[in-house]
Amino acid sequence: MSFADIHDQDDTQGYEIAEYPKYLSPSSFKMWRRCKTEFYLKRMSPIKRKIARRPQGIAAAVGNGFDSFIKTILLEHTTGEAHDAYEFLGKSISNKEYLQEASHAGKRLASIYIQTAYESLLLEKPHSFDLEILEDFEGIPIRGFVDLLVGDKEVLDWKTRGYGGAPKSPTPGWCKKWKGGVLQNVVHKRHKDPLETLNEDWALQVAMYAFALGHEPGDHLTTGIDELSMRNVAHPDEITLDSVCVTQIRTYISPSFQHELAADLHNAWRDITRGEFGYCTPAKNVCYRFRQLCEASGHCEAFKRFQPIILGGRSPKTRDKGGYSVSDLKRMLGEIGG
Ligand code: SF4
Repeated sequence: MSFADIHDQDDTQGYEIAEYPKYLSPSSFKMWRRCKTEFYLKRMSPIKRKIARRPQGIAAAVGNGFDSFIKTILLEHTTGEAHDAYEFLGKSISNKEYLQEASHAGKRLASIYIQTAYESLLLEKPHSFDLEILEDFEGIPIRGFVDLLVGDKEVLDWKTRGYGGAPKSPTPGWCKKWKGGVLQNVVHKRHKDPLETLNEDWALQVAMYAFALGHEPGDHLTTGIDELSMRNVAHPDEITLDSVCVTQIRTYISPSFQHELAADLHNAWRDITRGEFGYCTPAKNVCYRFRQLCEASGHCEAFKRFQPIILGGRSPKTRDKGGYSVSDLKRMLGEIGG
């Protein structure tokens, strides 16, 4: 049997619908684009709750840690409101195993950011931090979490990369860069390029949030990404001004990308609400991404049939995730002093 035979098979999975999604988020929309069977199995099928979700990785947990501390600091600085970083951390982190490390690393990253890009960000008058949105875009409910807004609903996002993994260079296209804690007198040669050519996933996320916040597709859309790129960092104590490069991207998302995205969103929502999924095509780059097997593969008939061709028999590694209250977090970590 080969990939050429795939559409001769009955791959419809039955498509019994237990529940219709109430919204699209950037991550669920990307899942729909990647594999409609995965979307169906994880969001709409009768077995959706039986599919074990992979626990959060350390890199993502450290990103949560940074977000929690920097938002707490910004809120106090700009509004005078005192918040508890553990409250943010409790909402976002889902892997108990990494809680202490993420907190320690996040606090050190926030310190690095304050010594570098923070002042530049303040000049843009940031507001509305950690904004949860569930808004209608032309009949499509869009849900997500916006890191922060500047000006008139301009979406900005923080990214942390490289913790516990391969060294990361800053994403091309930055207009400001702090190396060793010092602002460099240079801009990247692609700093005027649209965001979708620098990182398409980021552009999709920002544009969806902008649509949900009332932006008209095709109108001028500016945005920004502040990125902390780590090199050879596998422990919080290795986070220093020398190991973390901080960059700022300030650019736009092209009208053509916005129009295509809006059309794709409409097509996706139409098919989802009609329960039309078509056929999936298992492939290595779809079923096995970032060295991890699709969480729904154990329930995917097409994958089971083609697994020997795709992966040579690897098995999925999945575990349940948990959630923690603020008091749980404090008990586990204790208070962190200055
Ligand atoms: S195993 Fe592959 S084809 Fe099946 S649902 Fe997952 S990504 Fe889609």
